[in-house]
Amino acid sequence: MERPARETAQSGQAERGLVFNIQRYSIHDGPGIRTIVFLKGCPLRCKWCSNPEGMDFFPVLSYNKSMCRKCGRCVGLCPRGALGLADTKDRVVIQRASCDCCGECAAACPADALKVFGKSMSAREVLDDVAKDAAFYRRSGGGLTLGGGEPLASPGFARALLERAKKDHGLDTAMETSFFAPPGIVDKITQFVDHLLVDIKLADSSRHREAAGVDNGLILDNIRRAAAQRPAGTMLLRFPMIPGVNDDGENISAVAEFITGLPQGLPLEVLPYHEFGRGKFGNLDREYPLAGCGMAAPGKESVEALEEVFRRKGVRVVHS
Ligand code: SF4
Ligand code: SF4
Repeated sequence: MERPARETAQSGQAERGLVFNIQRYSIHDGPGIRTIVFLKGCPLRCKWCSNPEGMDFFPVLSYNKSMCRKCGRCVGLCPRGALGLADTKDRVVIQRASCDCCGECAAACPADALKVFGKSMSAREVLDDVAKDAAFYRRSGGGLTLGGGEPLASPGFARALLERAKKDHGLDTAMETSFFAPPGIVDKITQFVDHLLVDIKLADSSRHREAAGVDNGLILDNIRRAAAQRPAGTMLLRFPMIPGVNDDGENISAVAEFITGLPQGLPLEVLPYHEFGRGKFGNLDREYPLAGCGMAAPGKESVEALEEVFRRKGVRVVHS
């Protein structure tokens, strides 16, 4: 399968980018009512990822077996012969090396069981769509949130969206990010972000690499720098609570020490692990990285207990 070139722009704006979802009426990803634009591609490989359809820098075809009616309509339609019914007749089989994500099967599927994630869109197309809800944003103090994937991994497109959202549409802007990007990229993009939502997962570098696929040096440096430079109240840290991965006392103490040592006392929100990603990995014919761990979503009491530990260590815990 031929894949589009990954964006290499280091500065300035890129007119087009790959979007894998536009989610309206979100109330948890920045203030007010927001529209989240999810950009495709992420350099991290977090084992608990809840958006694996956004990991790659190219489109992917997702197949949800439980929604499929086994009608076989898609099979004969594929121009590349990439689809077949399993011998057991209980599912469609995708030859992924042959599929170029043209989307013909997804368009014909009567059950929405097939879906291509990753659509090339212009900044103007995205912003015209986002601006449709401008009245809601004005009333609620909301706006545009960029998510992913990792928006900083598509810096030219992210900049185009954020800069034009502010200058051309007068929108409030937010960005969810891992902060895994060179400092020059971070600074060029975040100047157009009103509210930064930054993940902090593990304080130890080798444990971070094991759990998320990359070292955390850049991430921690970027957090330190942003905490020193940004106006107070414009940055929130978010701790994904992943049982058995990062909720141990050693990591909690180290993360709390890092946060309380920052130039401004950044607030922290705990985001408990959930299993939304498990089925999505399966829909992409990929193994769920936490399969076999016996991990369950932590209950309310466990989350509150962890928040209390952070508070006792001097961290300001918030809920959005
Ligand atoms: S997306 Fe296109 S190439 Fe891929 S399986 Fe569907 S019809 Fe075939
Ligand atoms: S067209 Fe849709 S419902 Fe029918 S077999 Fe294909 S995926 Fe299943």
